[in-house]
Amino acid sequence: SLLLNLSTVQPSNLPPKKMKNIVVFLGAPGAGKGTAAAAVAARTGARHVSTGAMLRDAVARGTPAGLEAKSYMEAGGLVPDEVLYRMVAELLAATPDGATLFFDGFPRNEAQAAKLDELAAASGATVASALLLDVSREALLERLGGRRVCPKCGAGFHVKSLPPKVEGVCDACGAELVTRVDDQPATIAHRLEVYESATAPVVGFYEKAGKLRRIDATGTPEDVAKAVEAQV
Ligand code: AMP
Repeated sequence: SLLLNLSTVQPSNLPPKKMKNIVVFLGAPGAGKGTAAAAVAARTGARHVSTGAMLRDAVARGTPAGLEAKSYMEAGGLVPDEVLYRMVAELLAATPDGATLFFDGFPRNEAQAAKLDELAAASGATVASALLLDVSREALLERLGGRRVCPKCGAGFHVKSLPPKVEGVCDACGAELVTRVDDQPATIAHRLEVYESATAPVVGFYEKAGKLRRIDATGTPEDVAKAVEAQV
């Protein structure tokens, strides 16, 4: 009977392995994806993954991915999908089971959204939900214009709504804050066009999958963080 009992212990009878969970943050540049993802990640233990910050770091270090990405980023266009797929595949492989990842800036077109499902399935991860941070165009322009970023650790600030404790200095690591090259007015306009044409359709992708949650992101950074936290 012992043998019989053992033979019933098939893999399907074992508790499922803990999945890696992905929450996708959607919204136009300046909607506050990075700010909300960083704040809620700090409170919940999730990991904030900004593909833009990873790429800026790669550019600064002059890695092969950085060299490939640089000109696209400076023009405010999208970096070729293959560069992102390599980054995301490596990241998912290095993520422990049971962890939650907040994706900020990926996927940015429908092909990337479909590929994310594939890459996730291949590494024991699942896209749990997609949060759309909704704000008016006027608010986007105001937020992008006042945005400052730490070139060293990637922390984000805003001259009015999220000022650092000491003007021009990163709260987290003390480095001098900069304005992103792609936050210049002409480049901002182009990035908003890229969002409308390439990224906005991703909203429909997750709506069809029943994973979309809309969040009013007009309030203060704390208001938005609270609304996001209620959904994750
Ligand atoms: P972000 O910090 O999210 O605004 O990203 C800054 C820039 O990095 C973008 O304007 C793109 O050039 C590039 N980038 C970040 N994520 C992606 C992505 N998923 N696909 C293509 N390009 C991206």
